[in-house]
Amino acid sequence: MNNKEKAIIINDYFNEILYDAKCELIYRKPYELVISVMLSAQTTDKSVNNVTKVLFNKYPSLYDLSNASEDDVKEIIKSIGLASSKAKNVISISRNLLERFNGEVPFTREELMSLPGVGRKTANVCLLELYSKPVMAVDTHVERVSKRLGIAKENDNVLEVEQKIYKYFNKNDLPHLHHQFIHFGRRYCKSQNPLCSECKLKDLCKYFKKRKD
Ligand code: SF4
Repeated sequence: MNNKEKAIIINDYFNEILYDAKCELIYRKPYELVISVMLSAQTTDKSVNNVTKVLFNKYPSLYDLSNASEDDVKEIIKSIGLASSKAKNVISISRNLLERFNGEVPFTREELMSLPGVGRKTANVCLLELYSKPVMAVDTHVERVSKRLGIAKENDNVLEVEQKIYKYFNKNDLPHLHHQFIHFGRRYCKSQNPLCSECKLKDLCKYFKKRKD
C-alpha cells in the first residue's frame, strides 16, 4: 500500500471515530485565538482556557490588552509556565495587531510569524482555525502519529512531517484533519501505552508491527 492509499484509510477512520474533533482552546474573537495558541506552548489547552477566562474578561478588547500592565498579565497567567515571556508577548501581540494590522488577525503565515512569540506552528493553527486554510500545524501529537503510521520517517523534522502530510492527504481535509490528529494522539495513540487493541489502523501501523516483533 502506498502512502496516498494509507492517507485515505486514515482519513476515513478519523472521520468515523473523530468526526466531531475541534479546537479545544476557548476564544470569542480571532485575536484571542492567536494569544491562546501562543500561551499554549508547553502546557495544556485546559490550563490555557483557565487563565484566558480571567485574562479576556479583565481585558475585553485588544486595546485593553495592549495597555495592560505586564505584571498583572504575568500574575493572571502564572500557572501555565513561562509567564514572564508569555506576558510580554500578550501585550506585544496586541500592540502589533493594533498598530500594524488595524486590529485584525492577518491572513498570511509570514505576517502572523512577524508577531512576537508566534512561530510556524502557531501561525498554521491560526490559519486553519480562523480562515480554513489548507495547512497542518505539526505539534507533538501530529508528529508522533504521523511517524508511527509511517506517513513520515522517524528522523524527519517537523517541517518534513508537515510537507509529507501535504503530499499525501487531500488539502481540503487539512483543517479538520489537524484537530483529528491531535485528538487521536491524546485519546488513542498516546505517547505511553497507546490503545492499539482498539485501533483499526493496526494493519498499516509501523509502530504496531515493530511492537509485535
Ligand atoms: S496501532 Fe497503536 S500505535 Fe498504531 S496508530 Fe493505532 S494506536 Fe497508534
